Amino acid sequence: MNKACVYIGEELARYGFGQGHPFGPDRMGVFWQAARAAGLEARVAVHPPVMADRPSIERFHTPGYVERVIGQSATGAGYLDLGDTPAFPGVYEAAAFVVGSVLDAVDRLVAGECRRAFVPIAGLHHARRDSAAGFCVFNDCGVAIETLRAVHGLHRVAYVDIDAHHGDGVFYAFEDDPELVFADLHEDGRYLYPGTGGAEETGSGAGQGMKLNLPMDMQAGDEAFFAAWDRAEAFVDAHAPEFILLQCGADSIAGDPITHLQYTPAAHAHAARRLCTLADRHCQGRLLALGGGGYNRDNLARAWTAVLAELAGAGQ
Ligand SMILES: [Zn+2]
Repeated sequence: MNKACVYIGEELARYGFGQGHPFGPDRMGVFWQAARAAGLEARVAVHPPVMADRPSIERFHTPGYVERVIGQSATGAGYLDLGDTPAFPGVYEAAAFVVGSVLDAVDRLVAGECRRAFVPIAGLHHARRDSAAGFCVFNDCGVAIETLRAVHGLHRVAYVDIDAHHGDGVFYAFEDDPELVFADLHEDGRYLYPGTGGAEETGSGAGQGMKLNLPMDMQAGDEAFFAAWDRAEAFVDAHAPEFILLQCGADSIAGDPITHLQYTPAAHAHAARRLCTLADRHCQGRLLALGGGGYNRDNLARAWTAVLAELAGAGQ
């Protein structure tokens, strides 16, 4: 009963922008096939996706933006941002299933029904409170953070992001928040979307010093990752969070079609393993991993499977 939880189902797979798109609807299936081949299905609790209601989504997003997504979901026409994130018929429901699955995982973790959880088609870290961005319609990370506070009374939350892209939608939404511990290793914004996340961005106002941005050289591999990781881990450990979110995007692995970093899945396994230790130390074990990016299908299958294996207790 204290197994790791994972969310699998057609409703989650449906969040994608068409066959042949980097963020296509085949990503969940590719991951789950690899995880099953690794024998993980028997070692985790598999839950169906859950759809979030509108008030839950509006804990993070503005009502006006949610209304816009609902409207464009009916027609399937146009973009939800300046041109990266197209609407499609049913995009509201698909995005609401991503958020709802994450919130169901939050509920189960806080209730102690599971010790860790993984939601593969989540970690949509670019969406802003009032806009989509970079393939991200609703920012499930942001909704999870607001929900931990409003519903569960947990305020000191750590967000750790190893996706190749900077988690700008989370960073700027909580830039001045003193209790959102933010650590993000990403390809240097001089070379990659969204161009933000410089080392000098350490938070603002009351949140000054609570954010750690670690831009990585374009071709950084595992050795550089492990060195930077130690700083991120020490930062999170020092702030003793009550709950940890990990955005484990697989687009930081060598061979991704839209980024340049050169990690192997060992980086993702290491991050998950170390955060399990921190979650046990500070958070009663509560660690929620979100799949994030990853556009090379083999890479995302290997990285997410490695993360889930760690959450399920491999190597312990
Ligand atoms: Zn990414």
